[in-house]
Amino acid sequence: MSNILVYIHAPAPVPTKSQRELLALAASLGEVHAVLGGPADPIALEALTSAGANGFYTAAGGIDPAALLSPAVCLLTAAVRESAATAVLLPNSIEGREIAARAAVRLDSGVITDAIEVDAELLVTKSVLAGSYTVKAQVTRGPALITLKPNSVQLPAHETASAAAAPVRELELGDNAPAARITGTRPRTSSGRPALAEARFVVAGGRGVDGDFSAVEDLADALGAAVGASRAATDAGWIDHSAQVGQTGTTVSPQLYISAGISGAIQQKAGMQSAKTIIAINKDPDAPVFEIADLGIVGDLTQVLPQAAAEIRRRKA
Ligand SMILES: Cc1cc2nc3c(=O)[nH]c(=O)nc-3n(C[C@H](O)[C@H](O)[C@H](O)COP(=O)(O)OP(=O)(O)OC[C@H]3O[C@@H](n4cnc5c(N)ncnc54)[C@H](O)[C@@H]3O)c2cc1C
Repeated sequence: MSNILVYIHAPAPVPTKSQRELLALAASLGEVHAVLGGPADPIALEALTSAGANGFYTAAGGIDPAALLSPAVCLLTAAVRESAATAVLLPNSIEGREIAARAAVRLDSGVITDAIEVDAELLVTKSVLAGSYTVKAQVTRGPALITLKPNSVQLPAHETASAAAAPVRELELGDNAPAARITGTRPRTSSGRPALAEARFVVAGGRGVDGDFSAVEDLADALGAAVGASRAATDAGWIDHSAQVGQTGTTVSPQLYISAGISGAIQQKAGMQSAKTIIAINKDPDAPVFEIADLGIVGDLTQVLPQAAAEIRRRKA
């Protein structure tokens, strides 16, 4: 049976949905070991075991959180060598992609990012060229390092029963003194909304909101959705850059993406067209976004969004 590693960047007592997706996909491919990029308490180990991990690799002496990603790269590389893994699944986050790329250089192997499917032969499905093509790709040398987009794996409807924590193996990392260190951090004020990259629902606004995101935010809150934006809206300073969806922003693949006042330029589509369902609201019937929308509403977003939010709240009541 193949050995598959899953990189878990920040183990927590309740694994994130994308961590559970990585573990579920890995379990369909072989024997799963999780490589822990941070400290894990016994509850986190049990939760990851229940989610599919058959064992864990951690760094002897722990990972210095101020040392950026170098120790995680060392740990992952050591774990691949120790386990003779045929594949490593990582999150498609900025950290996941950087760790995959640096580990691949050390292992003299290949990386495939933006995966949405991986089959038993490690043939990976992904979309390229701003989402214009779906391609199959396969690493041809060394263990395959694959970063998986969130919401790509159907999780079982019911949680598996809790399991005793699988064994933990500590690996010596040797000399991994970092070339750069974090010297200070400042938390961002939480919006209370789900994280954009992982959200099941996203409501996004563009230049059409004309500086006022309140209707977009209100519908997002009615749905329990994250708020996204086009680059025109973030560049105008109407909302933080972290909300930008697209080629140079966050790539999202939620169950539902509601696009309001966004024309649907190719760079915007690149970040959202793998959403399962797309609803577009635009007052221009010829807006390109309607080409990829499952449901198009030709109308003024200042009228449509509040009606949608009110109806959702009415049905929830
Ligand atoms: C290298 C590069 C990278 C880029 N990366 C990104 C990226 O990551 N993400 C991104 O989004 N863009 C990106 N862009 C910019 C992209 O090309 C577009 O300029 C941008 O997406 C346009 O944003 P928009 O649709 O909000 O604005 P517009 O194109 O101006 O469209 C506004 C839309 O709102 C509609 N509208 C206006 N008022 C209303 C109303 N009251 N109700 C309903 N509809 C209304 C209009 O009909 C129009 O369709 C990039 C560009 C380049 C060159």
